[in-house]
This record gives sequence, C-alpha cells and structure tokens, in this order.
Amino acid sequence: MMNRERDRQFDQRETLRWRKGLLAWYDRNRRDLPWRNDRDPYRVWISEIMLQQTRVSAVLEHYHRFLRRFPTVRKLAAARQSSVLAAWSGLGYYRRARMMHAAAKAIVKRHGGKFPRSIAPLRGLPGIGRYTAAAIASIVSDEPAAVVDGNVERVLGRVFGAGLAGESLWETAEALLSRTRPGDFNQAMMELGAIVCLPRQPRCSVCPVFGLCATRGHLAQPKKLIGQKRRDVCYALDHRNSSIFLVQRPEHASLMPGMWELPEIAANAAEGRVSLTLRHSITVTDYRVRVMRGPAQSGSEGHWVQKRRVGRLPLTGLARKILREVEVI
Ligand code: SF4
Repeated sequence: MMNRERDRQFDQRETLRWRKGLLAWYDRNRRDLPWRNDRDPYRVWISEIMLQQTRVSAVLEHYHRFLRRFPTVRKLAAARQSSVLAAWSGLGYYRRARMMHAAAKAIVKRHGGKFPRSIAPLRGLPGIGRYTAAAIASIVSDEPAAVVDGNVERVLGRVFGAGLAGESLWETAEALLSRTRPGDFNQAMMELGAIVCLPRQPRCSVCPVFGLCATRGHLAQPKKLIGQKRRDVCYALDHRNSSIFLVQRPEHASLMPGMWELPEIAANAAEGRVSLTLRHSITVTDYRVRVMRGPAQSGSEGHWVQKRRVGRLPLTGLARKILREVEVI
C-alpha cells in the first residue's frame, strides 16, 4: 500500500509542547507496573518480551513467577529448555521463550553474563530486534532511541492524519523523542496508546495531546478483524493412583513443539461421557474444549507422569488450564 503523506508536521514549538505535555501526563498517570520499578536490563527485557503479543494483565501473573524461577540471566542460561518452557507456559508464542533462552546463553558466552545496556550489543542477540533493543537501551541507559510498537503506530497515525508506515513511522517517532528523558518518553508514548488512544474508541476528551492531534478521534476506524474461527476439540483425562497420561508434541511440530498435553480423542468417542467443558482461544481460533474422563484411544503414544511432576513440565496453555480445573496442578 502506498504510504500517503501525513497531513501535517510539527514545528519546533509544537514538538516541545508534545514532549512536555506527554511527559507531564505520564508522570501523573502511568500505571504502577513492576518492571517500571528499576532499571535492571534483565528485568526490562523479560517484561518487553512477555508484553509482545500478550496483555499486561496476563503478563503480571507470570512476570514475578518467572523471575523467582530465573532471577538472573546466568540462571536462565543454565536452565534446561524444558524448564524455561514450563515457566513460560500460559503466555503462548513459545518461540519467544526459546529465543530468550538462546539470548541468555549468548550473554553469558559473549558478555560474561553482564546484560548489555546499549543498542549495538543488544541487536546482536537472538530475538532482540530494533524495537526491543531501543526499548531496553532507552529505559535502562536513557539512550536516545525511539520505539515504534502497535500503540505508537496508532497514536502517530491519528496525530498526523494516517498514512505513516515503515521508516517514516520511525523517523517521526525519532523527531518527537525527548532527548532528556527518552526512556520515560518511549514508555509515555506506549502508555498513551494503551490507556487513552485506544484502538476502537480513543478517549480524546482526556488526551494530553488533544490540541496537537490532526484527527481527534475522527479517523476512519480500522477494518473489522477477520472473524474468529471456531473449533471443537476433545481430550481424554486418564489418571490412576498418582499418575496421569500425557502426550508430548513432536519436536518438529510447527505449533508448540515438545510441549505436553492431554491426548486428543475423536469427538464421537467423547459423546455422553464429557465431564468438563471449557472455552479457550489461541490467536484467531476459539476452541470449545470437552474433556472426557477415561482412557485415550488405544494406541495413543504417551507417558504416565507422576502428578507431583506434572506442574514442572512444559505444558501447553490449554493443558495447564484443564489440569488446574480438575485440580491436578
Ligand atoms: Fe488519540 Fe484522540 Fe489523543 Fe488524537 S486526541 S492522540 S485520536 S486520543
């Protein structure tokens, strides 16, 4: 799609007004989130990776638990991958956890376990791209590098009248960036998109940059998301004495390789024997999940796992949900 020229540009006075108004608003309104309490690059990195494609409320549940398990980058590097995936369970997009594990190992190997604080060495690490490197370096070292994520893109699109994309988005964000407080400024831009300039209904009446915005909520709404798909799935829950029957997804599976789950069974095998029904969503698919107590279909390849060990396995998010419902974990 052609990148339409933005409707307006800021002069120097407007740029200064933007920085001052946004930072003052952020100082008064920023959410008290645990990763904002210090400038430890390891903690900031964990939060940034978790927040990619996951809501703040879901990340809050996992952030402290993950840090208790892996309090330093050295501990993370030394862990088995299955332990890292188990600690990540419930956050989805497991590739992020694998890349974090690889990056932790690289930090130990290349940087002696000292987490880099500036953009150049950060960019050389697995899973750390332009956005994540700029976010970490600006927050922990006040390196003047702007960030563009989905929230910033939406704010800039509305403020300048749509059409910004690719490099022009980054250039615009760089031009606005506060040189004295770049870390706070970047967080303020993202916070504005997260709690005021909302995707569907921007709260323009409380917006600190209302006077500088070209569209003030009158920009065409984004096209409706493609409808969610629906799918029915059935699982067998077989537990005897102190063990439960689980299967491990193949290492070459495109989705969640190596993760553990309950054995899936055909829908007709569950008819009349369903003991639990729940809903679960993964990206664009809503699942209606039925769980039948009893053995899996004969020939299912799986393992009997002692219940006390189940919680430490890298379970899929859905398996964890079911096993919590039935109080196995
Ligand atoms: Fe977004 Fe409205 Fe603020 Fe413009 S005035 S940046 S549309 S919340």
